[in-house]
Formats: sequence, structure tokens, C-alpha cells
Amino acid sequence: MNHVINVVQPSLGERELAAVREVFESNWVGRGARTAEFEAAFARHLGVAREHVTATNSCSSATFIAVELLGLGPGDEVVLPTVSFVAAANAIAARGARPVFCDVDEATLNPTVADIEAVLTERTKAVMILHYGGRPGAVAEIAELCRDRGIHLIEDAALAVASTVHGRACGTFGDMGMWSFDHAKVVVTVDGGMLYVRDPELAARAPKVAYLGLEQRAPGGSSGAASFRSGYDQALRSRTRWWDYDVVSFSGRFTTNDVLSAIGLVQLSRLEEFISRRREVAQAYDAGLADVAGLRLPPPLPAGHTSSYFMYWVQFDGGIRDQVARDLFERGVYTTFRYPLLHRVKAYGSDAVLPRAEAAAENTLLLPIHQSLSDADVDRVITEVRACTAARLGGRRVA
Ligand SMILES: *Cc1c(COP(=O)(O)O)cnc(C)c1O
Repeated sequence: MNHVINVVQPSLGERELAAVREVFESNWVGRGARTAEFEAAFARHLGVAREHVTATNSCSSATFIAVELLGLGPGDEVVLPTVSFVAAANAIAARGARPVFCDVDEATLNPTVADIEAVLTERTKAVMILHYGGRPGAVAEIAELCRDRGIHLIEDAALAVASTVHGRACGTFGDMGMWSFDHAKVVVTVDGGMLYVRDPELAARAPKVAYLGLEQRAPGGSSGAASFRSGYDQALRSRTRWWDYDVVSFSGRFTTNDVLSAIGLVQLSRLEEFISRRREVAQAYDAGLADVAGLRLPPPLPAGHTSSYFMYWVQFDGGIRDQVARDLFERGVYTTFRYPLLHRVKAYGSDAVLPRAEAAAENTLLLPIHQSLSDADVDRVITEVRACTAARLGGRRVA
């Protein structure tokens, strides 16, 4: 049988290994110079000032920091699409605030302005959207709605590392944005994330919340040091006990390290090449699947929008999605669906009815898309999807 085609796959190689070796040889593997460099490089990539960006050990951690920085808590409501990653709702619920789920557009799986507006109340303190599959949502319009209503906007840009609207990076439209570099994303540091905070005071507080809420009383404490040498130099200059600290929030430890940041720097330099291959794959699916009866493709990107092509999805008529997924799996093509609807997760206590999201969750299937797919892989996916869809629509299994 042919090899199994993965839905997602990282591209880590010799250059990343060499960068890791360099960090090992420096004798400083903790958070230091490489992490500072990675933050600066990512800020440049976003087009924001470096002080607004903090590296974290995951995107999920960054959502917990964001909710803490905004001081959300009991009595507050935070609106988010039901098609969201579980970390978003957990970050809200963990602080005693209430996640309020909204519906999404059935074709893009992103919420519209009207979807969000429909569930706003006087208790709504924030809206947390994501960019489904790396495709920008109506982020400029949603940001405007939030500004008008005096509500914070948080963008889970985990999948939108290269997504822009009229040249502006997704994740920088609202008050805060976060990105993921976990094993399955486009830029991979194995595990890792980044947090953008617009407000300068909150941005200065972010690194403290990211590290146990510690505030050093004197410069040179270990948590603030960029390297052993700079820690030593700062400690030398200080007149007080450099090991003393205060605690400004009862926070966890959400910081990353120089080994992972060194990988991130190499990956970021390869991002354009990754996106351009992903775009080719998406365009090949667009062309190869356009005429399949019973199959709907994602609508074309609106003018001025760019995507990270993190996911490519198709939608089936006739309730055949699960059958086609199983047929494809048996034929070596791995597909999946993200994200199971959060309003259906009992723990969040929602009784919402969200018909367009519920329909999309029944008919949407994510096809393999990553930069390591060969042209032969892409052709095989197209051939198999065509065959399995036609067979199941006709009430048969593929031969
Ligand atoms: C992967 C993902 C996250 C979480 O990222 P981690 O870095 O693994 O914590 C958050 N939101 C979305 C939309 C994701 O896909």
C-alpha cells in the first residue's frame, strides 16, 4: 500500500539542529539572548514594536496570561465562537468568567459581526475570536464593533501566523493576540507561543505574569536575566540583594527557553517558503475538486486578505462526511475535523443552539495540507476524495 498522507506535518531539519547545537554549546539553555532575538524577529514579522511581544511556552498559556492581564473574573462574560480551541474557553472559565458561545458562518467557520452582536450583553467584557484554518475572519469589523461597545478584543491567531488583512497582521487588530508554535502548526518550535499586547503598561506586565508573577526588587534576578553574563553584570551594578522579589499575580510559569527559540528563529526565516508551498497545495485542491458533485469548497479569499493555509476543508452534502473520512483513512489519506463544538461540551454549561456551526461540524472535513506534500501526494488526495465522494453519494463504498 502507498504511504499514509498526514493531515499536518512539521518541517524540521539540519538548520534547526545546528541552531540547537549552538545553544547547547553556549552553556545557556534557559530563557535568554535567543528568546529575546526570537521576540524581536516575531515583532518585526508582525510590524509591531518589540516591547509589545512576549514569548511563551504555548499559545494556550498566552490565552491564560491574556485573561489575567485583562482582569476578567466572576460576573464577566467573554464571547467566543463555538468553533474554538478548548484553551480559549478554559482560560475564561478558570478565572470564574463565563464563556458565551456564538454561531459561525457555515462556509468559513469564522463568526460574522452579526453572530457576535447577537450574544453581547451588558456583562460582556471581551470577545475572543480565532482565524479558522488560517483564514482571516471579519477581524477589522469585529475590532470596530468592540471599540464602539468598549469591549476588549482578543485574537487567537494560533493558525494565522502569516495571515493579513490589507497588509496588517492578524492578531494585531485587537487588544491582544497569540500564536502557537506547537508540533502541528506552520512555524514549529516543538512547543511554544507568542503573545502580543497593545497597551504599553499591560505589555510591560506580561513577562511578569508569564513567569509566576515575579517582580525582581533589583535588576539581575535570574528571571530577568538575558544570559548568565548579563545577569551577573546587572547584579554587580545593583546595591541590594539581587535575589529578592515580590509577587504581582498568582500566576503559573509560562516562559520558553533558548533551545526552542533558536528553532523558532530558523523556522520564521523559512515561513515564506512554507506558505508558498501551502498556497500551491490549496490551489491544486481548488482546481482538482471544483467540479465534484455534492462537494463544496471554501469560498475564495476576499480581496486584501492573505491566509496561512493552515487547513484546507471541504463540505459534503448528503450526510456522507463520516463515511468518506473512514474510506479515505482506510486508503491511507488521513483527514480530520477541528474544532468539536464547545457549546456541546458539558463542563461549560451552555444551552446555546447554534445551527450554522452545528451543520458545519457535521459536513466539514479537513484534507491534508502541509509544505512537505509532494505533487504526487496532492494528486492522490484529489483522486481519492473524488472517488470516495462519488461512491458514497451513490450509496456505495468506493471499489
Ligand atoms: C493549537 C491551537 C491552540 C493552542 O496552541 P498550543 O501552543 O498547543 O497551546 C490554540 N488555538 C488554536 C486555534 C489552535 O489550533
